[in-house]
Amino acid sequence: MNDLRKIVADLHAELVRYNLVVWTAGNVSGRVPGEDLFVIKPSGVSYDELTPENMVVCDLDGNLVEGEHSPSSDTAAHAYVYRNMPEVGGVVHTHSTYASAWAARGEAIPCVLTAMADEFGGEIPVGPFALIGDDSIGQGIVQTLKGHRSKAVLMQNHGVFSIGKDAKAAVKAAVMCEDVARTVHVARQLGDPLPIAQDDIDRLYDRYQNVYGQRSPR
Ligand SMILES: [Zn+2]
Repeated sequence: MNDLRKIVADLHAELVRYNLVVWTAGNVSGRVPGEDLFVIKPSGVSYDELTPENMVVCDLDGNLVEGEHSPSSDTAAHAYVYRNMPEVGGVVHTHSTYASAWAARGEAIPCVLTAMADEFGGEIPVGPFALIGDDSIGQGIVQTLKGHRSKAVLMQNHGVFSIGKDAKAAVKAAVMCEDVARTVHVARQLGDPLPIAQDDIDRLYDRYQNVYGQRSPR
């Protein structure tokens, strides 16, 4: 548990490093292996004050189990994902600029880059408009990502939620999501990006997820 507190606290620095967050927006969580618990960022604490000690532990209903601060205001959404997607070990939320611009238009990011085919296996989909306060954000994430290759969803008018086998993988998906959102946005400025044939997307995804992944675990 202490290891995971440190991992989750440290991963928040990656959100800052890649310019995915401002002020106290954004959060990372990680599932505690073998227990119905997860570690998440405390609410309202600035990024440079995050430590392993002030991380918060919650149960899968989002109730506070351990911690002096209240958990992130997005805790219910994280909890809903962990309850309904047992394979998920990490969840990340950001309002990163380019990805959120796609979300503001309610437009999925089309798969027009090989790196996107590798990482997301197709488009990055849009999830429904949902207000904070109940399970509707969590439901929207799970409905959109369950059975989808993409590990990131653009929640309409809101921002990005990403998932992974652990917290680090979810952070990587959030970083890559912003990267492709920016590149495809820039490509759009001077014309229409060329589509990649579905067969080629499938081949790229398969190679990256299987062959490449085994040589260089990530
Ligand atoms: Zn948000």
